[in-house]
Order: sequence, then C-alpha cells, then structure tokens
Amino acid sequence: MANPNSSGTKCPGCTKTGFELVEDFPSNANYKMWYIRCAGCKTFMQALPYSDTNYLVKELSTSVTNLRNEVQSMNQRINANIGDLGSSTVRNFTLLSEKILKAIEELKEKLHK
Ligand SMILES: [Zn+2]
Repeated sequence: MANPNSSGTKCPGCTKTGFELVEDFPSNANYKMWYIRCAGCKTFMQALPYSDTNYLVKELSTSVTNLRNEVQSMNQRINANIGDLGSSTVRNFTLLSEKILKAIEELKEKLHK
C-alpha cells in the first residue's frame, strides 16, 4: 500500500493533508457510501459507492449461469428417465423448467445492458 496522502493534497477547510475513508448512510439513500474526508476537521471531499457494483453484477451473472446449467441438467435427467415418470409430472417439470430458463435469460439480458 502506498503512503497515505503522499500526493500532498490539502483540505480546503483547514489545509491539513490527512484524509480518511469512513462509511456512512446518507439520508434518503438506498445504500451505504464511503466518504473521503479530512481527518482533522472532517470536511467532506467525495462520496464513493460502498459496494463495487461491477463486481456484484459479475457475481450475480455467474450465479445465474450456474442456475441455468443446473436447470438444463435437471431437464436432461428428467428426459432420460421420462418412461419412469407420470406424464403429468413430466409436463409440470417441463413447464416449470421452461419458466425458470425464461426468467434466467431475461435476467441475464438485463444484467448485460
Ligand atoms: Zn480539514
């Protein structure tokens, strides 16, 4: 890690060069934020998202892909054993898996927009 405040940036309030990162929850916000502020007088410098949204979307996308693969695998197992299952059971599984796969594809499309 680099030395803190090696850039020599000064606080516009007190001209000190020490800054800190603190988490906070602004009024009317839906998510926590990180604030960069002066360590001396607490003058606000900048707010940053608390969570790395790009990372979260990537993680969610991976989970959706895994879920889709699970459903497709379930479909293959059902189809392989279709003779042992009642036709209404097969129909229900098929309808359910089609709905799940459709929902997954819609979610993936939204994630990649
Ligand atoms: Zn200050």
